[in-house]
Order: sequence, then C-alpha cells, then structure tokens
Amino acid sequence: MKKAKLKFKWPIVNKKKTKLLDELALSQEDAEHLIEQSYTVAAIMIFLAKAEMKKFEDLSKEEVIKTWSRDVLLVEWFGKVEKRKEVKEVIKRTNSIYKIIFKNKLKVRIRSSKDTASAMNYGAFLSKNTITLFPKWFSKSLEDRAAIIIHEFIHLSQPDQKLDGQRVYGSSLARRLAIEKPKKARKSAENYEWYCLELYQIKK
Ligand SMILES: [Zn+2]
Repeated sequence: MKKAKLKFKWPIVNKKKTKLLDELALSQEDAEHLIEQSYTVAAIMIFLAKAEMKKFEDLSKEEVIKTWSRDVLLVEWFGKVEKRKEVKEVIKRTNSIYKIIFKNKLKVRIRSSKDTASAMNYGAFLSKNTITLFPKWFSKSLEDRAAIIIHEFIHLSQPDQKLDGQRVYGSSLARRLAIEKPKKARKSAENYEWYCLELYQIKK
C-alpha cells in the first residue's frame, strides 16, 4: 500500500506563520508529522472500506441486497437498500476517495482560524489536489482527524446533507439520516466519516 506524498504549504509571510504555529501550539515539524500520521490513518480507513465493498463483486442482484442487509455497519450509516444501484453508489464514492488518497499528490495548506468564515471549520478542499486544514482540526484525536479528512473528500462531489433543515453533523443525526433518508445518507460526508471511523475501530 503506497500513498501519495504530501506537500505542505505554510503562510509565506513569516509573521503569519509564527502566529499560526503559536495558535496550533506546535512546532512546524510536529504539525507536519501529525498531518502525515492522520493522512496515513485516513488511507488505512479508506483501504478497509474499499476492501469491505469487494464482497459485492460478482453477486446476483438478490445476493447484493441480502449481503448489504446483513452488514450492520453499512445499514447503520447508509440505511436499507432496495436496488443494486444504491449499493453501487456507495461503492463508487468509496472507490473514488481511495483513488484520490492513493494516487494524488496532495498539497496541504495550513491556515489560521482567522482565515475561515467559521471558527468551527476543520478544513476544506480548494481542489482535488489541495486541502486546507484549520487549527480546530489539530485539536481532535488521531482517528477523528483521519475521519474528518474522509468527510472533506466527500465534499469534492457533495455538500453537507440536511435533515429537517439541519446540517447533518455528529453521529446521532447521521444515524437518523440513514434511517429516515437513506438516499441522502449515501451522499452524506458525515455518514462516510462515521462509517470509516467505526469500521477502522473494529478492524484495526
Ligand atoms: Zn462537511
């Protein structure tokens, strides 16, 4: 398993960079190490998820639905399915993240919380090749940081989903989305985040 290398982009102005490192309360070396580590765990998470999807290969339509229904984690985070194409949708999204993580040369911009509209932001993608990470991301645990990277990758194609007008954040809303709006759950960044996190915790 070989993933692409990361390239770090710190603020060019020295004063800005120093302030940012102060905000992170980390040295540049430690911050970069922490990102590398988190990205490796995100890669393992998506590797495991992709491996899980293999069991659907070469199955008849009925077997696909049956196999899905027996998978507690898939049903928990992406709801019940009736059609093979609903399963394929989840497989497709998982595979596309896998491809990016393992094939892309990712640039990582590290920016101050002042550079984001919401201090609650963990990070965001500028493009397929560039992710921005904010101080709040650094304050999470290793596994959470990795799962958040998965979440952000889903945003390359899908915005955050909503349930009753509320943005789907957190495990309880994501679980409810899978039950009440499985179609949305299969597009929901938060649901992929929790699926990958839970799968990793079981398999690691
Ligand atoms: Zn999001």
